[in-house]
Amino acid sequence: MQGANAGDWPVVGHRWAVDLLRPLVQSGGSGPRHAYLFLGPPQIGKSTLAYAFGTALLCTDPDARPCGHCRSCQLMAKNGHPDFWLIQPTDKDGAVDRANGLLRGEAATAIVRDAMLRPVEGQYKFILIQDAHQANDTFANKLLKTLEEAPTHVVLCLTANDRAELLPTIVSRCQVLELRPLPIELIAHTLESQGAASHAEADLLARLSNGRMGWAMAQLQSKGGLEQRQEDLHTLWQLSRASRVERLAFSQSLSSSRQNERLFGLLALWTGWWRDVLLAQAGCLDACNNIDHQAEIERDAQSFVPVDVQAFLHTLSRIEGYLHHTVNTTLALDVLLLQLPRPSVSR
Ligand SMILES: [Zn+2]
Repeated sequence: MQGANAGDWPVVGHRWAVDLLRPLVQSGGSGPRHAYLFLGPPQIGKSTLAYAFGTALLCTDPDARPCGHCRSCQLMAKNGHPDFWLIQPTDKDGAVDRANGLLRGEAATAIVRDAMLRPVEGQYKFILIQDAHQANDTFANKLLKTLEEAPTHVVLCLTANDRAELLPTIVSRCQVLELRPLPIELIAHTLESQGAASHAEADLLARLSNGRMGWAMAQLQSKGGLEQRQEDLHTLWQLSRASRVERLAFSQSLSSSRQNERLFGLLALWTGWWRDVLLAQAGCLDACNNIDHQAEIERDAQSFVPVDVQAFLHTLSRIEGYLHHTVNTTLALDVLLLQLPRPSVSR
């Protein structure tokens, strides 16, 4: 809580959600419900909000929660609070199947068992289950049982990308908070005011983030993020002018890498690029996100036929949907690469 005032929640944006949760943690308030579900795209701030909620709930200061000073707040700051549990698909304890990236039944059994025990420090036990959409059936069913029978001292907080990927019976037992993308200006201002980025860099990252603060921060921290983007954009420009054989070779190398995060990141970058090209074709260059490549956007806007660009954006969205479910990544990527538009005018 360094640099923050007592009672401040360290959450950028999502004010409505903080305002909704804050009264529940205040002493003498109505108290929280049993279960919450924070929905939204990856890195939009779901876990940050959940940590802030958990910290404030477990804080023992009567006036400003979180206070940042009490024993509970200090334990939280050290990630060592015995009443705050984090369950995630890549749990290091091995309770979770890392190979499949799934939340498995064993982890849920532990939740059911330990939820019954009284909190160690204070009034509540806060259980954060990240990426609940990755739960297998056994986990989901056991979780459902906990949601139905949890003692009053337990507060469950689930995060997931989309409610459609969860059992409807789980969603209906939670209070759902759907986090929306943050304004570009807020992200840019936050990055710049933290001294983390120059004005131009902050503006570019904010535009590319699609309103996801966590994504923008991760790009800054990884350092290689923006360089990788440059490389990926150059590859895309080459591929759209490459032969069928070269395109299929790229598809092969991408599908054999089996790095889902990389694959979906690349598809998001392609979507962002073609969206910009379409905007430029509609005369809206100002609304483009890849502002550091205006010349290339204008070049592609003139080289490609708008209807081809539009059709490819549809294909991208369709293939991305398949890839979340299908097992045949190679086939889906082959289709995508073959439908990448070709320039009608060579430039
Ligand atoms: Zn405190």
